[in-house]
Amino acid sequence: MPNEIETDVCVIGSGAGGAVAAKELAEGGLRVVILEKGSRFTKYDFTQKESEAFPQLYEDAGMRTTADQSIIVLHARGVGGTTLVNHNICFRAPEFVLRDWQRGGVDHISPQIMSPYYEKVEKEISVTEIPPDEVNQNDQIFHRGADRLGLLPKRFLHNRKDCIGCGFCYCGCSYDRKQNMALTYLPRAESLGVQIMADTDAEKIERKGNRVTAIVARQKDPHDLTRDKKIRVQAKCFIVSCGGISTPALLLRNGFGRLNRNIGRHLTLHPILANIGVMPEPVNFYEGIPQCEYVDRLSSVDSGGFLLEGIGAHPVLTSLNLPSFGRPHLEPILISKV
Ligand SMILES: Cc1cc2nc3c(=O)[nH]c(=O)nc-3n(C[C@H](O)[C@H](O)[C@H](O)COP(=O)(O)OP(=O)(O)OC[C@H]3O[C@@H](n4cnc5c(N)ncnc54)[C@H](O)[C@@H]3O)c2cc1C
Repeated sequence: MPNEIETDVCVIGSGAGGAVAAKELAEGGLRVVILEKGSRFTKYDFTQKESEAFPQLYEDAGMRTTADQSIIVLHARGVGGTTLVNHNICFRAPEFVLRDWQRGGVDHISPQIMSPYYEKVEKEISVTEIPPDEVNQNDQIFHRGADRLGLLPKRFLHNRKDCIGCGFCYCGCSYDRKQNMALTYLPRAESLGVQIMADTDAEKIERKGNRVTAIVARQKDPHDLTRDKKIRVQAKCFIVSCGGISTPALLLRNGFGRLNRNIGRHLTLHPILANIGVMPEPVNFYEGIPQCEYVDRLSSVDSGGFLLEGIGAHPVLTSLNLPSFGRPHLEPILISKV
């Protein structure tokens, strides 16, 4: 028999979407349970070793790809979701995206309507402009180049506090400077009584007719990952917030594709293409805040386009982005001198 839990709202996934929903609903007086497939981490778990961080923190150890393997789609798992590993750049959704969503039937999301909600979240996660003296060397070079071409580089807004600029953001922050969900929304949610169940993978969605009645999940024993137990959560409302890939995957596995043909369709990716160069001076990606500057002169407010950013990566992430597999992957790539 599975362990039975009864609550008002069951949120699946504790990333950006799930954490915000849980805290807001708890503030409204509802009882909330969060089921999170990944583990609960502290800064001491983040070792700044990519070989440990990828299997620990990323879905498919960072090798989740599109079916044709042409694009890697990175997703983290853990209490805090992908905000544990992201680069803390804080953009508001551009107008053309909001308009596109409106055309798809999502009402009430014009930039004017959204503005107070953005302000609220930005305050909660401490969004500020990256200070000029913390821009890393990659981005200083990017700035020089963009400036020379008259492209008017801008500095990103970010949600870090007192960052020491070690450059290991995507391995989890060993210094608790990233204002991710695990340090902002989720502690506030827990102080309001929200129960977070880590290492708990939601598998089965039970329903009567069109109404969802319960979720059955498998909770791993954190001390012995070969052992697990079943949990069954009954709630009045369920929020599936497992990220852009795992949300439709869970719903499709549970037969929801027959009820709504949009599930699993309309995915939009923003692939990254890198220009790599050899610099005359040493450039250490591990010194300074990664990704500080951008150029939006090649994108339009009506239709998007290209955004140029200063970027860099440590060896494993770099290798994930280099072409081909197996032996050819080991071959030296051709890099032109800048
Ligand atoms: C390396 C990297 C850098 C990034 N940098 C930026 C940036 O600088 N700025 C920016 O705006 N965005 C950035 N992003 C993207 C951004 O972090 C994500 O878009 C955002 O966090 C997604 O939020 P989410 O709530 O939809 O999903 P997630 O944060 O991915 O949360 C989903 C959660 O659901 C859990 N889950 C999945 N399936 C189940 C299940 N069956 N049962 C229980 N739990 C489940 C997962 O374990 C995960 O914790 C970055 C992403 C990556 C990978």
